[in-house]
Amino acid sequence: MYERYSRQMLFAPIGQNGQEKIRSKHVLMIGAGALGSSNGEILTRAGIGKLTIVDRDYVEASNLQRQQLYTEEDVAQKLPKAVAAKKRLKAINSDVEIRAVVGDATPEMLEELIKDVDLILDATDNFETRMAINDISQKHQIPWIYGACVGSFGMSFTIIPGKTPCLNCLLKSLPVQGMTCDTVGIIAPTVQMVVAHQTAEALKILVEDWEAIRHSFVSFDLWRNQYSSIKMAKAKDDSCLSCGSERTYPYLMKENLMKSEVLCGRDTVQIRPSKQGEVDLNELSVHLSGSHFEVKGNPYLLSIEMEDNRIVIFKDGRALIHGTKDLAHARSIYQRLLG
Ligand SMILES: [Zn+2]
Repeated sequence: MYERYSRQMLFAPIGQNGQEKIRSKHVLMIGAGALGSSNGEILTRAGIGKLTIVDRDYVEASNLQRQQLYTEEDVAQKLPKAVAAKKRLKAINSDVEIRAVVGDATPEMLEELIKDVDLILDATDNFETRMAINDISQKHQIPWIYGACVGSFGMSFTIIPGKTPCLNCLLKSLPVQGMTCDTVGIIAPTVQMVVAHQTAEALKILVEDWEAIRHSFVSFDLWRNQYSSIKMAKAKDDSCLSCGSERTYPYLMKENLMKSEVLCGRDTVQIRPSKQGEVDLNELSVHLSGSHFEVKGNPYLLSIEMEDNRIVIFKDGRALIHGTKDLAHARSIYQRLLG
């Protein structure tokens, strides 16, 4: 059984004992884009017990340059990334239990998914979700690993509740908010470098080698040949609302309103309905086709072509309105289609 992991077990800090620990662990990965593809593949090959993947998007042609789990076939089928990632990862290592969740990593969903999780990997692309991950990690005392990249610039930090500062503590001294939008593009090696830092830390945490954990904040620019590593122990702030002595977990406050947001660096608005509940995609497809819309779909989503926009509706009622950054316009389209 351990033949496939022999090289990893020969590595002294892991060994057979470490391999058994890796095998017993459950990792929750938020996001299955570039960082998620590579993180997911490395941990699956390393033989973790269970991987839960959460992603709200589907595979598009512009992803293929760096999102290494996906193929042209996934683009043609418009497969949700979580589903396409699970399919590919199962083919790589069928021993790993993989759960694919198509949806937005809201605080509500994180609360539900956090049970039995040993480690959270940040593979998301937005600030709001990272801060929710940070709060859920502190609340449940589960380590998480921050990773972010744009262009040729990337950074990573490991957060162990009770031991290291949290991301909210770091906000005062580091430009982490600015690392959320991919408007300046990205090259694939930046992703790999961030993932190398994240997965090395992940392995240390999974084998419980706490001494080996990196306590510095690393950042680099692969194009400008700059590397930095900043010690962060002093950044821990007792008045921090996420990890301090009077914590309130501000980023877990629920809001039940319909929510719309422009997705980073894209001509796309996401709309999340106020009520969570499943949409019957078959029924909706029949209804919209009857109204002379051009509708295509798969078991996870419907894609509707309109004059200037393409709308993708997921089973959870969430929609991506492509071709606009105008929230009001996107909402009116949503209401026209879903009533
Ligand atoms: Zn903090």
